[in-house]
Amino acid sequence: MFTKLSLAELSGLLQRRDTSAREVTQAFLDRIQHLDGKVGSYLTVDPEKSLAQADAAQALLDAGGSQPLTGVPIAIKDNISTDGMRTTCASKVLEDYVPPYDATVVSKLQQAGVVNLGKTNLDEFAMGTSCENSALGVTRNPWDLDRSPGGSSGGSAACVAGELAPASLGSDTGGSIRLPASFCGIVGFKPTYGRVSRYGLVAFGSSLDQIGPMTRTVEDAALLAEAISGHDPLDSTSLPEPPISAREVKSGTLKGLRLAVPREMLEGEVEPGVREVFEQVCQTARAEGATVEEVSIPAIKFGVTTYYIIAPAEASSNLGRYDGIRYGSRLDGNGHVGMVAKTRGELFGHEVKARIMIGTYALSAGYYDAYYLRAQKVRALMAQEFESKFAEYDLVLSPVSPVVAFRLGELNDPLALKLLDVCTIPANMGGFPAISLNGGFSSGLPVGVQLMGPVLSDERLLQAAYALEQALPAAAFRAPQFA
Ligand code: GLN
Repeated sequence: MFTKLSLAELSGLLQRRDTSAREVTQAFLDRIQHLDGKVGSYLTVDPEKSLAQADAAQALLDAGGSQPLTGVPIAIKDNISTDGMRTTCASKVLEDYVPPYDATVVSKLQQAGVVNLGKTNLDEFAMGTSCENSALGVTRNPWDLDRSPGGSSGGSAACVAGELAPASLGSDTGGSIRLPASFCGIVGFKPTYGRVSRYGLVAFGSSLDQIGPMTRTVEDAALLAEAISGHDPLDSTSLPEPPISAREVKSGTLKGLRLAVPREMLEGEVEPGVREVFEQVCQTARAEGATVEEVSIPAIKFGVTTYYIIAPAEASSNLGRYDGIRYGSRLDGNGHVGMVAKTRGELFGHEVKARIMIGTYALSAGYYDAYYLRAQKVRALMAQEFESKFAEYDLVLSPVSPVVAFRLGELNDPLALKLLDVCTIPANMGGFPAISLNGGFSSGLPVGVQLMGPVLSDERLLQAAYALEQALPAAAFRAPQFA
């Protein structure tokens, strides 16, 4: 029964001593052992370590030194460094890599007495939209085991939906928290760029990457965001702001809220079922007293092409460190160059190599101005267009993905997959906070809706999302019957 509860509910039980941290952690470990074989959300679990952390959390609870999340367990995407526990990025090159330090978010959680349940599957180095680029395993969507959980944080979404963790951490460079949250019917929150430290997050696109919570409720997302956010001197892009506050999350209302719906996010290949759910959500918001108006933000049309220059450019530089010497595995080859070529050639997957090549090309002397520089200009333009809308409207409302979860193997055209990022990419381009919650169902599969706000509006955004969640029957977490 613990596995059905939200973080807030588990926390209530723990604070009242109605249960112990060990009992709660054990319940999830048992379920993982029995059922994760079907879902494949975890790459690494270490029950002894989790239980030792649970006992330490219990000591905090008993000593009266606890924080709101003390004693609850959560799962962690496997591109977030954990001291002494392997962090693979679902890549063969890091398959046996054990970090010598914790990411800042992990040490913050540890200080708060949050238990690490294990590390979850992802697209290799977080590059993908379906989790199918993992070199280490297949993750299935608990709503339909033949379908993708979305990506790249597919394991983090599947474990929350499948009641194999009450919540998890994901990372989002172009939608990797929000899209799998949408496919799996849960809440996914990407905070303002710089509010959560990236120290210890294995870098993909450093100017876009952000860690955030994946949960069953908006309240849980706020609680987890509060626990992991705040200034960090170890991340030079960390903002000086205090942590995101969860205190007022329940005081939000949709009354009087001005919501803008960008036409460019509804054009093209949006499935009829997604369109229908989205229209119902707009109706609900109106019925609750919000104004919902269609607007035009023309630069959205260039978002996918621009992102797929900038993100690979940054990745091509960031992934230079996997040279067989500094990090991860090495394959022997002929001389130094032979060794590096063999290591990178054989241990990186196809998508990662494609992106390194595209990024290197876009940054090379002859093409820099035509690709990288232009992409940066479009990025600035896109941010400006959104900012000018935020002067007139409080938040932007849109679908998360034009489609619901597709069958594994069904979308094997890399371009088709990339086009699914049209609604999520703008938040990363502008550093804006954005949240995905379940808006309804299409043929029995969840359909997410997204709210996006201006930089540093995280608290306001969470409040609005909470109010929308309360007004939407489908947003109440439901667990799929996959067992
Ligand atoms: N789907 C996008 C990509 O493949 C986003 C990935 C992410 O946010 N990490 O790059």
